[in-house]
Amino acid sequence: MALLSLTEGCGVIILMVFTLQSHGFHRRVWCHNPHGFYTSKSWLSLKKVGFGPHRAYWRTIWKLKMLPKIRVFSWRVGHNILPTYDDISRIRQNFSKNSPRCKNREETLIHALKDCPSALAILTFGGLDNRLIEGSYEWCIDWLEDVLRALDVKATADFFTLLWNCWNNRNNWAFNGKDDEARVVWERA
Ligand SMILES: [Zn+2]
Repeated sequence: MALLSLTEGCGVIILMVFTLQSHGFHRRVWCHNPHGFYTSKSWLSLKKVGFGPHRAYWRTIWKLKMLPKIRVFSWRVGHNILPTYDDISRIRQNFSKNSPRCKNREETLIHALKDCPSALAILTFGGLDNRLIEGSYEWCIDWLEDVLRALDVKATADFFTLLWNCWNNRNNWAFNGKDDEARVVWERA
């Protein structure tokens, strides 16, 4: 099997893709490949989705000055390929799809990063425009595109750092059952 690596900034981004369900790229699941390589097939998938719809989004995130890990995160958010409980419940039996924080709603990505009360609190502390917080979106990418249209370059980079902290806060909650105060998360951003 042919192997390719992709160097991005000072880090090497390693991702491998497989399809969880056939709902288009929104349902693709990406995993770190422990061997540090793309397969040629996954690289073709990356090219295909990266230069298709939402092109302006991809062009913007590659230009922003962000840590490589946050850039990769913003790429994965745009493709809806972070492991939410809703995703995990599709491949694991008897796994609750409900949000580990509020436990009220299915934990889709837009819920985890925007609609969950904990996420809303973090975004509010971060000073994101109310209109961008309150809008209703099914997919993260649509929300992100609206946010990018409203923010300048510096504010956009700060926004992705905030989202990165929001996702880590969610992971802390999911794995350790702990939640940070929204203010603490914001101060770390
Ligand atoms: Zn929630």
